[in-house]
Amino acid sequence: NKFEQLGLNESLLKAILDLGFENPSEVQEKAIPLLLEKDTDMVALAQTGTGKTAAFGFPLIQKIDADNRNTQALVLSPTRELCLQITNELKNYSKYEKGINVVAVYGGASITEQAREVKRGAQIIVATPGRMQDMINRGLVNIKNIDYCVLDEADEMLNMGFYDDIVSILSDTPDEKSTWLFSATMPQEVARIAKQFMSDPLEITV
Ligand code: AMP
Repeated sequence: NKFEQLGLNESLLKAILDLGFENPSEVQEKAIPLLLEKDTDMVALAQTGTGKTAAFGFPLIQKIDADNRNTQALVLSPTRELCLQITNELKNYSKYEKGINVVAVYGGASITEQAREVKRGAQIIVATPGRMQDMINRGLVNIKNIDYCVLDEADEMLNMGFYDDIVSILSDTPDEKSTWLFSATMPQEVARIAKQFMSDPLEITV
């Protein structure tokens, strides 16, 4: 099993067996060892359907400290559907890792209920930018101490007009975190976000 050679731990390898993934996809093979090895910024050019969720999700799950109840990672995604899909995948990846809570935060559903879930402990928040900004404005989330931020489908988020929200949300996170940006294309707005909020990112293309 080639996943073992990427440096993933036992509980992830067990979860991967359950998922039925036999071999890493190209983006997984390229990204996972780099993200596990050290805390670094990364820009990955990858289309949807390439296995990019696991490319950032496996390292993220391995790096989260399950004994620490604080929010350690934020994943931003363009749509409610993708937000729920990523949340579901991350829950599958972490099923043998006790104490990791993944909470979805998205528009069109009760903010009170989402705030309650976050308050119960959310080491990982997967959010759409508009609702996330709303939760920040109302003081319902704290992302001031996160270690990891993933921007998934960055080009889509910017196409949908989330530039200001993304800038505002990222400005609320610490400088020392690692940022992993995934995008199918690299239009100017995406490059601008990368330039403003990332330092010396590793670049991979699939
Ligand atoms: P994504 O690009 O993350 O949306 O993944 C696309 C689909 O490929 C999802 O249904 C995943 O469950 C599946 N997938 C991801 N990685 C692998 C893998 N290494 N082997 C088989 N299927 C995979």
